[in-house]
Amino acid sequence: MPEINHKPLLGLDASELTALAEGFQQPSYRGKQLFEAIYRKRIESLDEISTLPIEFRKELSGQGYSIRSEEVAGKFKSSDGTARYLIRFPDGQTVETVWMPEGDDGEAGDGSDADIVESARNFGRATICVSSQVGCAVDCRFCLTGLLGVKRNLTAGEIAGQVMAVLRDQQVSPPHDRINLVFMGMGEPFLNYDSFIKAARLLVEGVGIPQSRMTVSTAGIVPRIGDFGEEEIRPKLAISLNASNDEMRTRLMPINRKWDMGQLLEAAKNFPLRNREKVTFEYVLLSEVNDAPEHARELAEKVRGIRAKVNLIAWNPGPGIEFSTPQAERVLRFQRILIDSGTPTFIRRPRGRDIYAACGQLKQTMEAA
Ligand code: SF4
Repeated sequence: MPEINHKPLLGLDASELTALAEGFQQPSYRGKQLFEAIYRKRIESLDEISTLPIEFRKELSGQGYSIRSEEVAGKFKSSDGTARYLIRFPDGQTVETVWMPEGDDGEAGDGSDADIVESARNFGRATICVSSQVGCAVDCRFCLTGLLGVKRNLTAGEIAGQVMAVLRDQQVSPPHDRINLVFMGMGEPFLNYDSFIKAARLLVEGVGIPQSRMTVSTAGIVPRIGDFGEEEIRPKLAISLNASNDEMRTRLMPINRKWDMGQLLEAAKNFPLRNREKVTFEYVLLSEVNDAPEHARELAEKVRGIRAKVNLIAWNPGPGIEFSTPQAERVLRFQRILIDSGTPTFIRRPRGRDIYAACGQLKQTMEAA
């Protein structure tokens, strides 16, 4: 691995790479060649970029440039095929990135015909769950990552680099292989907005993952939802809601004091959706806290009139957090009430629970392993 003072090229976009090449007295098309080599071909070492003159490669390395900065410091495999990666950066900070094969994004579906068609198409796809910060400042009470606090933001290169490290390890290559990305790992992407959005663009334009196969989840940073709607290239929007009223949401997600449900749902309602796109509301079900039938009815009223679907996630247990997982019947009842009210509602299957890779469980536990 390069030394701590290295300068990674991964994270620079085509115009930045062009400016860099020109700074080395190279023709501007060398920038495009670098972009192709780094993102599309995913070449790992400057020495291997045969489209560039040897002298230019030597000059770049001589000045401390290298392609990437991250390394896979650990990998845990779950019995369900999920793999949890510990990715380490040169300053020693680590995040977790999760590979979920056979692709689903965890939705067990509502049993409709649309589901059956969907599951036929699912064959051979996989989802990567990506982190955006080291730790998280948002402090959702049901989340292990929240216990860490935030240590630092990731750069665009560190966000895109996680995806590229996992693609490399799994030996898959989009767009040929069908890869979905969910920016739902450690951190709140909208509190690291510029780097997140730049990484998403690099992954679309460079790596070739369609934006329609990417979803970002926010705990409800309302002003950023507005900005996000104006982006030309953007993933789909998911909002981590988890409550059916303000009192409950503030208890579970203190950020609700800053932007309450009224503001959040208004932002969702005004969000400029593309054809056939919906906002996803995520709702972690906590036994005897937010999983009662009256909560489902209250939620159904709240989301009425918004082009949305709801993903239900039965809470994944984690050490040091005092909640419990609801019974399956309660989860199904909650889903039924929402579906009957006209809201498409899915139950997400937990993935990788045994290796702490499931939603809200990412907490760098591998370091101790
Ligand atoms: S659920 Fe997401 S936003 Fe909330 S503390 Fe965990 S990582 Fe942060």
